[in-house]
Amino acid sequence: MTGGMVIIGAGECGGRATLTLRDLGFEGQVTLVGDEPHLPYERPPLSKEAMTSAAPVIKAIASDELLAECSIRHIHSVRAVAIDRAAHVVRLSDGSSLSYDKLLLATGSVPRKLPMPGLGGRCVYLRTFNDALAIRAHLSAGNRVAIIGGGFIGLELAASARKLGATVTVLEAQPRILMRGVPSEIAEIIHKSHEAEGVKVLTGQGITAIADDGAEVRITLADGREIVADLAVIGIGAVPVTALAAEAGLAIDNGIAVDGTLRTDDPDIFAAGDCCSFPLAVYGGRRVRLEAWRNAQEQGALAAKNMLGANEAHAAVPWFWSDQYGLTLQIAGLSDEGKSTVRRDLDDGAFILFHLTEDGRLVAASGIGPGNAVARDIRLAEMLIAKRASPAPEALGSQTVKLKSLLAA
Ligand code: FAD
Ligand code: NAP
Repeated sequence: MTGGMVIIGAGECGGRATLTLRDLGFEGQVTLVGDEPHLPYERPPLSKEAMTSAAPVIKAIASDELLAECSIRHIHSVRAVAIDRAAHVVRLSDGSSLSYDKLLLATGSVPRKLPMPGLGGRCVYLRTFNDALAIRAHLSAGNRVAIIGGGFIGLELAASARKLGATVTVLEAQPRILMRGVPSEIAEIIHKSHEAEGVKVLTGQGITAIADDGAEVRITLADGREIVADLAVIGIGAVPVTALAAEAGLAIDNGIAVDGTLRTDDPDIFAAGDCCSFPLAVYGGRRVRLEAWRNAQEQGALAAKNMLGANEAHAAVPWFWSDQYGLTLQIAGLSDEGKSTVRRDLDDGAFILFHLTEDGRLVAASGIGPGNAVARDIRLAEMLIAKRASPAPEALGSQTVKLKSLLAA
């Protein structure tokens, strides 16, 4: 066959995959198809710098020049609408089609929609650069912003909106913010930092009605209170984009189901990044789906390698970060695998919680502190997790014992 490599989804994962194919010396055709009008770009700045910088600048993963230099054909503003697996052909929304030898689905995820009547033009979601531009226009001093969902999008956006002088209310249905995946001790620090910056954070608050007349939004809470805002941003999670794969008959299991090498149940089709679920070797093959920047990068690169025949299994430890005000949160591993925690205090009020199983294995580490305060130790924890180490809790908790020495042991 002569179709070469086709990658659907020009995001973090798809963008990295195409560049990796060239880095690895692949000389055949590489085609990257994306439905957004932009070059592949980074999403993390969208809730942070893209809101607060003097001008909203898109942070491209690859420039036009680099794509041209690497002979990567980038088809933008076009959607892949069907896969004919028998013919090895992808059909596109502009009526054209592409044949492939190997196909990578890097279709990402999209915001979970709030299933309520009454939403209008003042109720928005944040996923794309164009979404960010639309939200940014409303974040000026004095404007009222209601944020539905106390997850990462909501809280990072709240911090950016406060920086710009907007009045911000965060509405979280759960008893606390960052309920999933972030330990309560850390969530509490983040909650307090938002309050200190003037954000009203209302937890345990269900929403019973929304009325959006195009000029302002009225949100009624379960306790009868009403929040009036110029803009409501909804950040209640993300769902994987799987329709293309499902319609092609590929297995779906909380995302496009792939094996450890990121291969779907079709040997010529791979999936990677936010859209796929995969067995995580470091936790005994537990099937997970990660929505994180570094995972998208790592899986894009691994998928490219395996499309070229490497057959290598994904072995990375999950890791992500979040920046809010001067604080950075970093989590390595899956904290829900742990049964107990050990705390290590660092300088400047920073600390790390190590999560251990019943038999003492280190399975995750969650840290928070100013700037880069926890970065080095989280990196070392990540290596200990990858080694499936069971360090003594006293050593983990003692600032005088260097984590590096535990790694050597
Ligand atoms: P995406 O980046 O979603 O890319 C998928 C692309 O495929 C999209 O452009 C989509 O439009 C396109 N596509 C889908 N279907 C088709 C189709 N049929 N045809 C053509 N194109 C298609 N992670 C962190 O670890 N730290 C952070 O601080 C952080 N901040 C974030 C801030 C924001 C505002 C957002 C939205 C995400 C953030 N993330 C962060 C998460 C991180 O950006 C994602 O995990 C990452 O972008 C996933 O990459 P991906 O390539 O799998 O998917
Ligand atoms: P998220 O982190 O999953 O948080 C969503 C939050 O909204 C959860 O706390 C959720 O609670 C809550 N929620 C759900 N339904 C609600 C409702 N009806 N009313 C009020 N609250 C509700 O997802 P997100 O913040 O929307 O982020 C979307 C995507 O962007 C994710 O992929 C995320 O990883 C990514 N992102 C990542 C970062 C980062 O890693 N730093 C930053 C920004 C965005 P439940 O737990 O009960 O569902």
